[in-house]
Amino acid sequence: MRDELLSPDESEEDNDISNEISLHDLRPNSLNDFVGQAELKQHLEIILGAAQRRGKPSDHLLFAGPPGLGKTTLANIVAGEMGVTLHSTSGPALDRAGDLAAILTKLEPGDVLFIDEIHRLSKAVEEVLYPAMEDFQLDIVLGKGPAARSVRLAVAPFTLVAATTRTGLITGPLRDRFGLVARLDYYTAIDLEKIVSRSAGIINIQIDDAGSSEIARRSRGTPRIANRLLRRVRDYAEMKANGVVNQSTANEGLKVFGIDTKGLDKVDRSILNALCKQFNGGPVGLSTLAISVSEPTETVEDVYEPFLIQQGLLMRTPRGRVATDTAWEHLNLKPRSHTDAKIKKDLFSALEE
Ligand code: ADP
Repeated sequence: MRDELLSPDESEEDNDISNEISLHDLRPNSLNDFVGQAELKQHLEIILGAAQRRGKPSDHLLFAGPPGLGKTTLANIVAGEMGVTLHSTSGPALDRAGDLAAILTKLEPGDVLFIDEIHRLSKAVEEVLYPAMEDFQLDIVLGKGPAARSVRLAVAPFTLVAATTRTGLITGPLRDRFGLVARLDYYTAIDLEKIVSRSAGIINIQIDDAGSSEIARRSRGTPRIANRLLRRVRDYAEMKANGVVNQSTANEGLKVFGIDTKGLDKVDRSILNALCKQFNGGPVGLSTLAISVSEPTETVEDVYEPFLIQQGLLMRTPRGRVATDTAWEHLNLKPRSHTDAKIKKDLFSALEE
């Protein structure tokens, strides 16, 4: 079972505007309001500024990184900064080449086309995209069999903004057609604290610095999770502490919702538990590990592992996944002796093979 509270994926509640402000209202609208990712922001300022001066659409942009870090937000910001319309779709939604052609022919000059999960585009659709990205041309095949003929149509100059959780699955020719390939990193606690304070201001939550910092520290480095935890802590504080969020209400609220001190969720913990208890610390293959926690392999690889690796709890070795000494300690298990030494030994012997 996924832990919805700490899932970086968008949930229904994130978009629910029926009873309160949705997380979409928390989206920063300009690069200035976009917290963190300083280097990427600087690159974007230069690229978008130069494009505006030339009066041309900007180069195509690819944003990569785990879910919930702000890729869609950036696509909106790019369109906003350029003063153009954003058209959104996703890799899985573009089933046939005709689906993409229909969208491309609707674009006005300068518009931004956002394709989420671009790594899931089919080969046929990808091939329609190449000439569109490069020469703003669309090659369409009309008819079938011997009567089929190819027609070339012009597309308005546009900017493709694409997002992916997996750069590894993007083909070389597609990747080469982007003017900027940027990787979004997990946010620092300081940046997340700013995001929590900003969101609290927008949805009118009384929170002090220590309260923001406690939520920030436990948000898996992910703004979407920070915003969601803020709402849950607010609920807790309303029931127990007249709605005021400080360090102790944040701490108690997060504990009630089962979020541990490192911000790990149930799935994170079950991955580490399986690694340590079932597989004696590893190395174990990714698919075996994924089956043992009943999660799709792709989810474990894209969503859970990057954070566990960043926290120094798990390592990818050529022989499989390995729990580090810190993982054993975090689970309050007796560290298997010489775990790290064993990782090094495994690494060296694999390299020698
Ligand atoms: P992704 O497309 O990478 O899955 P989103 O762009 O949908 O992520 O971001 C998820 C939520 O997190 C947004 O609704 C937004 O409120 C918040 N968010 C993301 N990045 C930032 C940021 N840098 N500053 C402030 N809020 C952010």
